Amino acid sequence: MLLGDLCTRGCSFCSVPKAKHPHELDSSEPENVAAQAATMRLRYVVLTSVNRDDLPDGGSAHWALTVAAVKRALPDAQVETLTPDFNGDLEAVERVLASGPNVYNHNMETVSRLYSRVRPQAHYEQSLRVLRYAKASHPEILTKSGLMVGLGETHEEVRQLMRDIRQKGLADIATIGQYLQPTRRNRKVARYVQPAEYEEWKAYGESIGFRAVFAGPFVRSSYMADLVAHEASS
Ligand code: SF4
Repeated sequence: MLLGDLCTRGCSFCSVPKAKHPHELDSSEPENVAAQAATMRLRYVVLTSVNRDDLPDGGSAHWALTVAAVKRALPDAQVETLTPDFNGDLEAVERVLASGPNVYNHNMETVSRLYSRVRPQAHYEQSLRVLRYAKASHPEILTKSGLMVGLGETHEEVRQLMRDIRQKGLADIATIGQYLQPTRRNRKVARYVQPAEYEEWKAYGESIGFRAVFAGPFVRSSYMADLVAHEASS
């Protein structure tokens, strides 16, 4: 996870510590991450970060340096960027895309109705715009988005979210998994979704054009990411 261990956002499902003014960026992080990935001989690298609304570029230049460093260190590896929304700054989004990831992932996280309670500093339409820009400007890069269920959404709202993403051609891959409350301070689980519902969403998603839908209680946005990307690109 890049850009430090403190986040400027306060998503109710997330246990990452919050701060209005987190520490300065570690300029050695891009090369250190690349060196670590090379030591581990990774074939598929998923990078993610906290949100850094305190930085003028949202940390996007640091992101781009890290992707480039990983690709130099591991030329045969695939790189997936699981990115924040950069406050809707499409120049920041472009900076990350231009660094050459194989998969650009931005999670919608939840349905539109729950945004104000689940992602209070984010905006549903803004996250859709990020995905739309990524797909329109770099169609060669696979796009991906994930959501959690069990936060209080309805079955139909999940289908609506999938339509919002897919009918506008914004993401090639979707992941859907059960929300689990990480600490007592976080939002409570509203319900535990039954396996048949995941099956239905998977079939529905594939019927409306997703190249791959991974859905199940233990699915997370980076769940078997190499397999997911392979399936979507074959
Ligand atoms: S932006 Fe990401 S890291 Fe920050 S609180 Fe939300 S989910 Fe957690």
